Amino acid sequence: MHYDVIVIGLGAMGAATLYQLAKRGVRVAGVDRHAPPHDLGSSHGDTRITRQAVGEGAAYVPLALNAQRIWRELEAQSGEALFEACGMLMLSSSDTPTRGHGTADFAGETAALAERFGIKHSLLDATQLRTRFPQFGGYGDNAVGYFEPGAGYVRPERAIDVQLRLAEQLGATLYNNTPVTTIESMGQGVRVQTSSGALTADKAIVCAGMWTGRLLGAPVKSLLKVCRQQLFWFELDEPERFAADSPVYILLHGAADTDSCYGFAPLPGENAIKIATEQYLEGCDPDAVDRSVSQADIDAMYDAHVAGRLLGVSRRVLKSKVCTYTITPDFNFIIDAHPQMANVTLVSACSGHGFKHSAGIGEALAMHHCNEPGAVDLSPFSLARFR
Ligand SMILES: Cc1cc2nc3c(=O)[nH]c(=O)nc-3n(C[C@H](O)[C@H](O)[C@H](O)COP(=O)(O)OP(=O)(O)OC[C@H]3O[C@@H](n4cnc5c(N)ncnc54)[C@H](O)[C@@H]3O)c2cc1C
Repeated sequence: MHYDVIVIGLGAMGAATLYQLAKRGVRVAGVDRHAPPHDLGSSHGDTRITRQAVGEGAAYVPLALNAQRIWRELEAQSGEALFEACGMLMLSSSDTPTRGHGTADFAGETAALAERFGIKHSLLDATQLRTRFPQFGGYGDNAVGYFEPGAGYVRPERAIDVQLRLAEQLGATLYNNTPVTTIESMGQGVRVQTSSGALTADKAIVCAGMWTGRLLGAPVKSLLKVCRQQLFWFELDEPERFAADSPVYILLHGAADTDSCYGFAPLPGENAIKIATEQYLEGCDPDAVDRSVSQADIDAMYDAHVAGRLLGVSRRVLKSKVCTYTITPDFNFIIDAHPQMANVTLVSACSGHGFKHSAGIGEALAMHHCNEPGAVDLSPFSLARFR
């Protein structure tokens, strides 16, 4: 079967790209080694933070804003709740600015971008923080808060599911449980070899998440590092501290990018808060990710990030999950033509901050494919910066 485009990998980036292409009448197929949404890649765990003033850099802001618009459009079409605009508090209690995703002063850059793009926000001193957000503690009088009311969280599994279902209704073909083994450029197109036969297309867009390096090999592989991350759902002793309209939060409490944690208020019906930190030191093999979380891991997380900082939260973990970031050397995305394979576009797994942009990235890729005017400029994510 020959398609205009084959999207390889149907997680956050692939589902969005497939949907946006199908919406534009492109003859498109999506292929995944599993049956998305699933919990074996980088897009599971119930919630993902979305922010508007994206401290990772100005190039991301239009993608995040477009994604929020698209979540609302998808909600209207599907009847599913995808995006909860509960606001976001970034609480900085460190004497030195905290690094985040490659940005030296993550909170400072966030506030600067909010000013630059006219994004609604407020800055809070320690007294205002204590009054307004009594669920957080352990900071001194020098602490500052950045509150963004238009931020919140997205439901990743639902968002993927909705986009895949809508894409199928619009004519896309889905090949689930079908690993792609090789991609070859040939003449004006590509040949995609799968476990159950070959497909051809004019173009392939590779959104294979943490398996991208393995699928594409050198030179892409050397730019991607897969880092295992852990998610913890700590049971609440004082649920009244985390009201239904509690914001998502990013707590910055040291100079390094690992001196931070982020989390969510309980989802309806839950009595636990999901919280996580980030680690970039240890890489892992995407096909041998250790999915167990030990009591020692739980204790380390609680002692470093929860105790004294999130009030009314017990040491008891009701649920835990392992997920992976696939990071680039500068923590920024790669969205570009493959440097050696004609007709192949590469969309990296987006370094632990991609979900909030995924719907916007899918739309931008589809608009560029269809030569539509007004598409978001994706050149800041090109491979040229590594040459
Ligand atoms: C713990 C954690 C917390 C995060 N928090 C946030 C957050 O709060 N906000 C935010 O914006 N971002 C966050 N992120 C980042 C965001 O979730 C990722 O950037 C994004 O989900 C990556 O999507 P993806 O499509 O690249 O990868 P995935 O969703 O993993 O999709 C890749 C797909 O490719 C398929 N595949 C791979 N190889 C093949 C093959 N050979 N053949 C066929 N199919 C293949 C896989 O089965 C998979 O379905 C977080 C990530 C993690 C892990």
